[in-house]
Amino acid sequence: MIYDYLVIGAGISGTAAAFELSAHGTVVVIEAESMPGYHSTGRSAALYEPNYGNAVVRRITQASKSFLLNPPSKFCHVPLLTPRGLLTVAMPGDTEKLKPILEQSEPAATIESLTAAEACELAPLLDPKQVESATFEVDVADIEVATLHQGYLGSLKRAGGNVLCSMRVEHILRKDGAWQVSGNGQTIQGKTLINAAGAWADQIAMMVGAAPTQLVAKRRTAIIVDLPQHIATSRHLPAIDFADCNNYIKPEAGKIMVSPGDETPIEPQDAWPEDLDIAILVDWLESRTQINVQQVEHSWAGLRTFAPDDIPVVGYDSKVEDFFWLAGQGGYGIMMSPALGVTTASIITTGKLSTEMLSMGVEAKDISPSRFNKGQSHIC
Ligand SMILES: Cc1cc2nc3c(=O)[nH]c(=O)nc-3n(C[C@H](O)[C@H](O)[C@H](O)COP(=O)(O)OP(=O)(O)OC[C@H]3O[C@@H](n4cnc5c(N)ncnc54)[C@H](O)[C@@H]3O)c2cc1C
Repeated sequence: MIYDYLVIGAGISGTAAAFELSAHGTVVVIEAESMPGYHSTGRSAALYEPNYGNAVVRRITQASKSFLLNPPSKFCHVPLLTPRGLLTVAMPGDTEKLKPILEQSEPAATIESLTAAEACELAPLLDPKQVESATFEVDVADIEVATLHQGYLGSLKRAGGNVLCSMRVEHILRKDGAWQVSGNGQTIQGKTLINAAGAWADQIAMMVGAAPTQLVAKRRTAIIVDLPQHIATSRHLPAIDFADCNNYIKPEAGKIMVSPGDETPIEPQDAWPEDLDIAILVDWLESRTQINVQQVEHSWAGLRTFAPDDIPVVGYDSKVEDFFWLAGQGGYGIMMSPALGVTTASIITTGKLSTEMLSMGVEAKDISPSRFNKGQSHIC
């Protein structure tokens, strides 16, 4: 059988695109690991942050919101977004550092100023002596990542799509106008090849003879620790950023996830946290909050993979026929996945970006791989 669409990578990006393409033809998703979502998709902070990232990323995120609020029927049984809110805290003497955050405030995603007392009332785990002022962004929400990912996979399967796990693509050939993708003793054929291989997307490009887009995978570390009982049970807590550093805190059902916001460039791999990074993070947490860490319950690291301009790479390769890029989602790939999935199907089936993306002011040239490799593009 020759599939119409062959997607490499069963993370959130590949499954979103596969689901959208399943309305237009036969689809197969090929995944190296034994289960979908093993890499970046299963390791995120699971936040929807409409004011995070550069202008193009923000527009794409906002283009995803309607899907996240109103997914297709039978897609899932629980809401995909749950209000969380984001507090950004300034230490004494640091209030000026909140100015750029307040300047980002847009009518569609308001950010307001808070006093130290208001900030500590919202987040009683903070040390009041170390808070001078704060901002609060009400539109930040938790994303139910597993539900979103399962929604794509389940809907894809109901539409007749296939997902093949434990098949690491090792060779790709073009024969008689179709792609032959091989690995683990199997060969699968497809007409259009969608490269959603996350940190490995440049490696897939090189297998088909396309120029790489200089993607860089950057490791980010996270830990889970307990909250003091009286805080864990008493109230809904916001996520917390700190104006003086990249560290952040995300509440997780009576516990908190804490990350140093590290961005260490590494080769694509099964990322693992460094003990020293965790020790420094615990020390910082105890110095900036009222939390006394008894034990790190869980720690992990994941890859955030960026193109040189921090904008996703979405569109047909400018040189290699029927080879489509869906890569470089950086630290925003979960919240952008609905809009990028829809726009992937739209470019492939109509030659144009989706109406949601166009109405947000995103243009094909903003995200096209041809911005790196000048040449003929398939996009009208
Ligand atoms: C700590 C952390 C926090 C984050 N927080 C957020 C957040 O709050 N909000 C947000 O929106 N985003 C966040 N992100 C970013 C988000 O997780 C990623 O942008 C997103 O998961 C990328 O999805 P993907 O499908 O492109 O990549 P992946 O999930 O990595 O999927 C790519 C898949 O391709 C497969 N693959 C690769 N090579 C081959 C091959 N040769 N053959 C077959 N299969 C192959 C891999 O096995 C993998 O499963 C965070 C990331 C990290 C690490």
